[in-house]
Amino acid sequence: MVRKILSVMCIWVVVQTVHAAQNQIDGLRIWPSPDNTRIVLDMSSAPEFTYFPLKNPHRLVIDLSNTSDSKALSLQSESGDLVRKVRYSTPKNKQSARVVIELNRGASPSLFAMTPTKPYGHRLVIDLKGSGAPAASSSTSASSKSPSNASTSSVVMDGSSSHRNRDIIVAIDAGHGGEDPGSIGPAGTYEKHITLSIAKKLEAMINGERGMRAIMTRSGDYYVSPNKRPELARKQKADLLISIHADAFSQPQPKGGSVWVLSMRRADTELGRWLEKSERHSELLGGAAEVISDKSSERYLAETILGLSMDHSMATSHDLGNKVIEEMKQVTSLHKRAPQAASFAVLTAPDIPSILVEVGFISNPQEEKNLNWGKHREKLAKAMFTAAKRYFKQVPPDGTLWALERADSRTHTVRSGESLSLLAQRYNVNVSRLKAANNLNSDVVRIGQVLTIPRT
Ligand SMILES: [Zn+2]
Repeated sequence: MVRKILSVMCIWVVVQTVHAAQNQIDGLRIWPSPDNTRIVLDMSSAPEFTYFPLKNPHRLVIDLSNTSDSKALSLQSESGDLVRKVRYSTPKNKQSARVVIELNRGASPSLFAMTPTKPYGHRLVIDLKGSGAPAASSSTSASSKSPSNASTSSVVMDGSSSHRNRDIIVAIDAGHGGEDPGSIGPAGTYEKHITLSIAKKLEAMINGERGMRAIMTRSGDYYVSPNKRPELARKQKADLLISIHADAFSQPQPKGGSVWVLSMRRADTELGRWLEKSERHSELLGGAAEVISDKSSERYLAETILGLSMDHSMATSHDLGNKVIEEMKQVTSLHKRAPQAASFAVLTAPDIPSILVEVGFISNPQEEKNLNWGKHREKLAKAMFTAAKRYFKQVPPDGTLWALERADSRTHTVRSGESLSLLAQRYNVNVSRLKAANNLNSDVVRIGQVLTIPRT
């Protein structure tokens, strides 16, 4: 009798232990992007899972072993148009949970577990690559809301002449996004939100400039892998890529902006720098599915080094980097007074001059405050915009409107007694065009200054 009671108690204890060790789904996040939707399940410990798709209607079924299905699953309001619903279904057995993702159309799934990275714990990531999406016509925001000077009709009507007066295309890359928050400030500011806000301000400035057009590598809060970003820029035939980030350090003191261009150092030093940098920016940790799943970071690195021979792009990047620094030092302190070299994956487009701008240290409490201030972000965007304009006024890319106007223009050296309005009158151009052609912010000209006179 005593023996029997004891054995029953033992079984009871074992059951309780298994129950306590059971994995939990603590939360659900969804990050829709133009060509991919990422669903993230927050787990209390590392998930063990299997999955299979079903048709009619399209579903993805995920079985999580040793997991409780007690926590409710609910979608956020901005969940995109691919995922209809996420719910539980009858599990295979009592110890497991079955999650069903209802889809509005077929999508190819890729699932992987992620280990804890601040601010998140264990996660199961479900990437759904949409196929035949009704709204998949654009992979960037630019094509969906292109400025008036690039409307469909004008592109069609321009025909061959459009090759001679095309827009200068600037690809803007807002660092991080979605499940990858980037660095996090002491007050809880996410780098990904700061970078996107500055990118959008820069986009508006560029699209407001005659002869320039912006494209965005991401236009919302979703993850784009570091090597896909230059690819997007290349696909859209960008003349320049500006990647925007905010720095972070383990101590609160470091502050100031810096500009990075592609490095020419030897491969072994590169590896160290690259790993250090990617760790700091958590782009790998942020979850590039392809990097994590194929583990061939050598290939990734090889691609990075491959880009190093592109002298022209690099010289351009350096020149532009200097101009960005000149402009930035008027609106923020600088961490480095010259462009720094590194081999970020995002800088490796072989044919596109590329720079990476660190707008400040989000780990510095004062700079975090500044970065949270809209006016400050506006100034940073303006600095990048002015630098890009100054650069392209000097060397407009072939085939652009700016190149055409430059070839058509004359110059005038300002003499004593001459004013902007006098010169405008003499050359029969209006003052605002004269100012725009010379990138002048005021009406003041100085003796000896060489002005570009646009043709009327
Ligand atoms: Zn970053």
